[in-house]
Amino acid sequence: MNRVDVVIVGGGIVGLATADALLRSRPELRLVLLEKEDELALHQSGRNSGVIHSGIYYRPGSPAAQLAVEGRISLTRFCTERGVPFEMTGKVIVATDDAERERLPGLLARGRENGVRVEAIGPARLRELEPHSRGAAALHVLDTGIVDFRRVCDALADQLCQAGAEIRRGWQVKELVERSDAVVVTSGHDSLESEIAVNCSGLFSDRLASSSTNSEPAVRIVPFRGEFHDLAAARRHVVRNMIYPLANPEFPFLGVHLTRGIDGRVRAGPNAVLALAREGYSWSIVDPGEVRELLRFPGFRKLARRYWRIGLEEMVRSVSTHALARALRALVPEIQARDLTRSPAGVRAQALSADGTLLDNFVIRETNRIVHVLNAQSPAATASLEIGRHIAERLIHHLD
Ligand SMILES: Cc1cc2nc3c(=O)[nH]c(=O)nc-3n(C[C@H](O)[C@H](O)[C@H](O)COP(=O)(O)OP(=O)(O)OC[C@H]3O[C@@H](n4cnc5c(N)ncnc54)[C@H](O)[C@@H]3O)c2cc1C
Repeated sequence: MNRVDVVIVGGGIVGLATADALLRSRPELRLVLLEKEDELALHQSGRNSGVIHSGIYYRPGSPAAQLAVEGRISLTRFCTERGVPFEMTGKVIVATDDAERERLPGLLARGRENGVRVEAIGPARLRELEPHSRGAAALHVLDTGIVDFRRVCDALADQLCQAGAEIRRGWQVKELVERSDAVVVTSGHDSLESEIAVNCSGLFSDRLASSSTNSEPAVRIVPFRGEFHDLAAARRHVVRNMIYPLANPEFPFLGVHLTRGIDGRVRAGPNAVLALAREGYSWSIVDPGEVRELLRFPGFRKLARRYWRIGLEEMVRSVSTHALARALRALVPEIQARDLTRSPAGVRAQALSADGTLLDNFVIRETNRIVHVLNAQSPAATASLEIGRHIAERLIHHLD
């Protein structure tokens, strides 16, 4: 059996950034990163909106706000140094009715408190920035941009290999067992011993956490699919950069928006529908055991009672392109259902507590030798380098 200093489970952006931060502080460590797929970043990190978030939405003083703002700065510095293309395009958040208009000043104040460059704008300025959008009032957020997070992951992986880390692909961790002298990491065919381990397995992080403690985790990962549609090439001109609605403050998702990617494509989405499997990228992928377990979880039943109406509306927009186009017309009146083509979806690993709360902050749980990252949800790709640095500090504390 091999013995190493650190095992990191998960080759998404959080696992990669954690490994990178750790080796920068402690280059002598023998570090192995284990990924179950044959490629890195095939799940959340490679299936997201590609937005460098500003940090406007998060409660001032919260870890999410701090990590997003600092993370955006570190990410753009990293991309510049490593030649990963990105663009700070800015975005508009449009109030589509009177109720939303009344909420704009609150979001403006929150953004400014978080140190984000944002200004309130009227219809004339909105039309200068996004000539095809309509709205009586909007916010213009300057500190927002676009990047391909898969390219960021590739750059991190190259850097890791140069620093002497080993990345094993096709290595699915079945169990993390904590002993007094080591963590034993096993797959179906192999095993490893390590001083410490980090669980960055995204959609499976709660399962892996319970394999190590032999108990039910305090939070459960609920898979929320985010579906995207491509806007026809002939229609791309109706979106210059990014057009967002004002998000429902009770729901941790941002509402269907329009985003230009770094590749020039314009996508509508993501919505948020319950996925019927952890990697349920379409309605046809169903894991009956997973669905049964979810229905048994008390937090899920409370969540369903609280949000059934929003959930139903999201499902209608998921199955009907006409309903989706209708929602998008509140942002850009010219969009028609025939302009939209389904493109690959992503699934968010959203942590839910037993009392039915959708957690909106990063959740990190530690035992003597294992750190579990249980809720690295958006903006975790933007904030990944700072999250990695934060976890690395904790790991060094454990090692010392
Ligand atoms: C639709 C969507 C849109 C989003 N948009 C944005 C955005 O615009 N900006 C932003 O900042 N954030 C966005 N996010 C959030 C962001 O993508 C995630 O927060 C981030 O990618 C999480 O990274 P991760 O490394 O924790 O998870 P993942 O990328 O899911 O990585 C986990 C890895 O662990 C591996 N794994 C799982 N189980 C095992 C096992 N047992 N053994 C070995 N390996 C295992 C998986 O294969 C996977 O590669 C979005 C997310 C989604 C889904």
